[in-house]
Order: sequence, then C-alpha cells, then structure tokens
Amino acid sequence: METPRHWRLKKQRYALIGEECPHCSAKIFPPRDVCPECGLEAKTAYQFSGKGEVFSYTTMNDAPAGFQDHTPYSIALVKLEEGPIVTAQLTDLGDEKIRIGMPVEMVTRKLRNDGDERGAILYGYKFRPVL
Ligand SMILES: [Zn+2]
Repeated sequence: METPRHWRLKKQRYALIGEECPHCSAKIFPPRDVCPECGLEAKTAYQFSGKGEVFSYTTMNDAPAGFQDHTPYSIALVKLEEGPIVTAQLTDLGDEKIRIGMPVEMVTRKLRNDGDERGAILYGYKFRPVL
C-alpha cells in the first residue's frame, strides 16, 4: 500500500506541476516562483491537465548519448491548454503524421538510460497524439 507521502512525491515526478499566480491567475510552467505576466510572487502549486497541442516540432535523426534507442524521435513545443509552452518528446505516433495544431496529451515514459553501473533510468513526461 502506498503512503500519502510516497504518492505525493511520485505525483511531482510524473505530473506537470507548475504554479498559478494569485494576482493575475496566469498559469506558470516550469515553476519559477515569480509570475512572468505581472512580475509578482507566485508560489501556489497548480496541476496542469497535461493536454495541449503541437505548436512546433523537429525530428532528430542523431540522438545524444543515452537516447540512441529512440532514434529517430521528435521533439515538440507543446502549447498547454492553460497557456504555457513546454518542450517534450513526442511518443506513440504510429503512422500518425505530426502537424502543427495536433492535439496531444501527456504520458509518463522512460526518458533515458544512463548506462553507468547504477543503471539510473530517468522517467519524465512525453506527449502522444489524442486520437
Ligand atoms: Zn501574475
């Protein structure tokens, strides 16, 4: 059984947690404690929906170390429903052709295998098409 504490930590790692400005209601991601819209302090945690659309993208044929298993892969700027734009890898594309404006949603995936003896695997968010 998972304790609430464990669950919270997991949630931070796997979800898009940003901030909401208490002054102008701007949604902020990544969290930076200062609102980019009005310049005031913003430390209220905000859980993003994970839904958005492809704003721009690029396909990488040469992967940096640790990413070779995944070539070619596409990196997109995803404009979240709430406004901020995040950079993330696209996944589960299948035969789907990426296009600007394509609706996508966040999924949690293995990002990278460090390849050292610790075998550290990093997980994080990617986006997949909403069918
Ligand atoms: Zn603000």
